[in-house]
Amino acid sequence: MILQSDKDVTIMTTSKQILVINCGSSSVKFALLPKDSREPLLSGLAECLGLADARITFKTSEGKKTESLDGGRHEEAMSALTRFMENHGWLDGVAAVGHRIVHGGERFQASVLVDDGVIEGIEACSSLAPLHNPGHLVGIRAARAAFPALPQAVVFDTAFHQTLPRAAYMYAIPQRFYHDYGVRRYGMHGTSHRFIASETVATLGLDPERHGILIAHLGNGASATAVSNGRCVDTTMGMTPLEGLVMGTRSGDIDPAAVTFIARKEGLDLDGIDSLLNKQSGLLGISGLSSDCRALEDAAAEGNKDAQLALDMFAHRLARLLGGLASSLERLDALVFTGGIGENSSLLREKTLARLKIFGFAIDPAANERAVRGAGGLISRPGSVMAMVMATNEEWMIARDTAELAGL
Ligand code: ADP
Repeated sequence: MILQSDKDVTIMTTSKQILVINCGSSSVKFALLPKDSREPLLSGLAECLGLADARITFKTSEGKKTESLDGGRHEEAMSALTRFMENHGWLDGVAAVGHRIVHGGERFQASVLVDDGVIEGIEACSSLAPLHNPGHLVGIRAARAAFPALPQAVVFDTAFHQTLPRAAYMYAIPQRFYHDYGVRRYGMHGTSHRFIASETVATLGLDPERHGILIAHLGNGASATAVSNGRCVDTTMGMTPLEGLVMGTRSGDIDPAAVTFIARKEGLDLDGIDSLLNKQSGLLGISGLSSDCRALEDAAAEGNKDAQLALDMFAHRLARLLGGLASSLERLDALVFTGGIGENSSLLREKTLARLKIFGFAIDPAANERAVRGAGGLISRPGSVMAMVMATNEEWMIARDTAELAGL
C-alpha cells in the first residue's frame, strides 16, 4: 500500500499490525504487516550485529533509510526498530509478533504461541539447526523484552513437512540413529511451500480435497515438494538444507562415498567437508564464477562453458527430483515455480520443463518470457499439465498464522 499523506498514516495506525521477525545469529529481518494485508508497511534488515559496522535498514513507501547501530546486538536492533515504528505512529497498532523458526524437529507440527515450554522445545531442536535456532531464541527473548504485553507466535520451516510418510522421511541407515539422535528428513522452506500450495489451489480452482501439486522453491537455497490433497508427501531437503537440488553454494545430492574419498585425498577434516559442500559448491563451485543465477545467465549467454554447465546441471537435477516427487502423488495438476530463480529465470524454467515432457508438460514460450519480476501466471500451453509462476510470501503466511493464534 502506498501512503499518500500524513492523513493516510493516521488511518493505518488504527488497524492492527503484525510484526514478523526472522532472527539470525548476527541479523534480524523484519516486516510490519497490517492484519489481512499482504503488503508490508515497513520491512528491513539489521545486519552485522555485534560488529563495529552493525546497521539497520528500514524500507517503507517513502524509500530506504539506514542507521548505524555501532556494535549493537539484537536488543539494540529491536530498540531501533521500536523507535522507528514509534516515530511513524505505527507502534501502538502492533498487536502481535510472529517469528520464523527454521527447525521445529518432530515436536512442532504447526505454528504455536510462545510460552516457556515452546522456548524449551526450540532449544531442544537446536542441535538440528545449530546455525539458526539459537539466533531465533535471541530474537524471541529480545522481542519479549521489547513487547512484554504482546502475544508472540512461532512459525516453523519444518512444520509443513511433518505429514511426510515414514518411508519418505527415514534414511536407509540403522534405525538407531533416528531413535537416538533424530536423524531423518525434515525438509525446509515449509512456510513458502505451504503458502504456494494453498494459493495454487485457490488460483487454479483445484479441488481442495483432491489435487496433486509439485512446487519448486528456487532461491539461493532451493527445495522441491510434492503436495497431495493439501498434505506434503515428499520433499528434497533432508535433515539439513544441504540435500537435494543444486543451490547457490550448496552441492545438494552427492554420493556420500565421494565425500569420504575427497576427504582422504585432500586431508579434509569435518569442518573442511562442511565448508566444501555448503559454501564452495553448487552453482559457485561448478562455474568457478558466481553463486548468482543472473550472473551465470549473463556469462552463459557470452559463451562461458562453465556457466552453461552449472545452469544445465541445475535444470537436470531439478527435473530429475521433480520426476521422483511426482511418483508420490495420486494425480498431477500443476508444477509451480517460486523463489528468486523460479520467479525470474525463464531460461531455467524452460530447460526444466523441456526435460519433463514425459509428464505432460508443454511450455508456452511467450507466457514464460512474460512471467518475470513478479508477473507470475500460467506458462504452460492449454491442454498440457499446468505449469505456473507465483511469488512466494512467507512474511504474510507468518503474519496470518500469528493473527489467528493471537485471536486478532
Ligand atoms: P534467498 O534464498 O536468499 O531468499 P532469492 O529467493 O532472493 O534467494 O533468490 C536469489 C536468486 O534469484 C539468485 O540466484 C538470483 O540471481 C536469482 N534471480 C533474481 N532475479 C533473477 C533474474 N531476473 N534472472 C535470473 N535469476 C534471478
